Amino acid sequence: MLVVKEKRGTMKEFGLYINGKWTPSTSKKTFPTINPAKKNQVLAQCAAGTREDVEKAVYAAEKALPAWKKMPAPRRGEVLLEVASLLKKRKQKLGELVTTEMGKVLKEGLGDVQEAIDIFEYMAGEGRRLFGHTTPSELKNKFCCTIRQPIGVVGLITPWNFPFAIPAWKLAPALICGNTIVFKPSSDTPLCAIELIKILEEAGIPPGVVNMVTGSGEDVGTSIITHKRIQGLSFTGSRETGEFIARQSGLKKVGLELGGKNAIIIMDDADLDLALEGVLWGAFGTTGQRCTACSRVIIHKNVQKEFEEKLLARVKKLKLGSGLDPKTDVGPLIAHRAILKTHMYTEIGKKEGAKLLCGGYSVKSSGFFYAPTIFTNVKPHMRIAREEIFGPTLSILKANDLKEAIQICNSIEYGLSSSMYTQNINNAFRAIERIEAGITYVNASTIGAEVHLPFGGVKATGNGTREAGWTGIEEFSEEKTIYIDYSGKLQKAQIDIEE
Ligand code: NAP
Repeated sequence: MLVVKEKRGTMKEFGLYINGKWTPSTSKKTFPTINPAKKNQVLAQCAAGTREDVEKAVYAAEKALPAWKKMPAPRRGEVLLEVASLLKKRKQKLGELVTTEMGKVLKEGLGDVQEAIDIFEYMAGEGRRLFGHTTPSELKNKFCCTIRQPIGVVGLITPWNFPFAIPAWKLAPALICGNTIVFKPSSDTPLCAIELIKILEEAGIPPGVVNMVTGSGEDVGTSIITHKRIQGLSFTGSRETGEFIARQSGLKKVGLELGGKNAIIIMDDADLDLALEGVLWGAFGTTGQRCTACSRVIIHKNVQKEFEEKLLARVKKLKLGSGLDPKTDVGPLIAHRAILKTHMYTEIGKKEGAKLLCGGYSVKSSGFFYAPTIFTNVKPHMRIAREEIFGPTLSILKANDLKEAIQICNSIEYGLSSSMYTQNINNAFRAIERIEAGITYVNASTIGAEVHLPFGGVKATGNGTREAGWTGIEEFSEEKTIYIDYSGKLQKAQIDIEE
């Protein structure tokens, strides 16, 4: 039974998924999930999990671990491939759900699901790789190699801005490596997580291998990060929560993917029309609510005026509305708190002396809409140039040359994505070398990650973990070192060295 309860024909109530069963929370409490484009539309009620529920989920995951770990990885891969196939079949409906629950425009909602399909397909193939290393021994008649083993029970905690892709980026590698899972999705997008879990169940993931506990970060999240029998954690979310997790999680293997304040550098030899498309997409796609969103443009003084005119003309034409309307360019923010935060930064920007070119206000309507906002004459020390806003706000900063542009780009605490528009190959390579970020694009926006390449950042963007690609396997496995001595005698490394 997927739905725990259906109230008055329309209001659905969903439970937790523990040991292969949908069950109410021990608190008996629920919380609503809503449509951010129509804030009065409650989509469903979801179970508010508790510490006790997390305990049950960990127990189920522990019980399921030996059999899942023992299953040959290519067989686990077959289950992942089935997940991908079911996601493909339901892509349209799931994309619509992403748009309805999270707000991004439908094209992006479908892209979110596609990213989940891609990672499940990629990680299914990893079932036939999971490479270790072999290397020569320093001694005769001795063989050395490494093999990959699961971490054990892992906790996954995810945000709302990619409600299919980010859970999938964690679930797929964790599963192929043979771990069992306690998963807590964002309280803003539990329905997307529930649909993903239904698909995992249908694809044949055995009971207890994946357990999902919905509920607050304070109750469910904290119970997961401090749980003594959870050996690994993978978290994507804000810097504040990430730092809290780093302090609370003890000696677990922890992956933290946190915020960004990503810049596009535009040099005076750039194709300005191409750069314009990149900035529009980077700054206002997903209403600026991507960790890789472009929130700073660092522009060469010679082309600043021309670029600002072009940008303003295009931004004024952007249409706000429900992401399900094909004419909409920019959807709502996730919640009222995001309107308040975005507007707080508008006020800060004005006080700091930056010049507001457009936007700067919330739009009175049925949803959480905020007008695309651009500040110019922004200086690197200003808060709007340094802090993550996570809304449709762009700061434009002037640079006299490449050296200064890179200096400004690096003058922040974050280091996730970056981009540079130039026709000069030497400058492009200089930027690649000197920009402090986990990702650098040349002649493309700050967004556009592909699932077979490492994803993550430096500095305050995390703790060095890279997700996806082969690095996703590193995040969710332990590498065990094997020495096999077939000399038939005691050989001592570093001591029995033949002169
Ligand atoms: P958030 O507030 O940190 O929440 C993320 C998740 O952590 C949610 O599931 C949340 O639960 C949970 N949580 C909250 N407090 C917790 C606690 N004390 N212990 C354990 N878990 C806790 O972040 P968000 O607003 O959802 O996401 C936006 C942030 O994510 C931005 O900063 C963005 O840059 C970042 N992000 C980073 C990446 C990346 O790969 N680097 C990708 C996407 C997003 P509740 O929902 O119940 O509060």
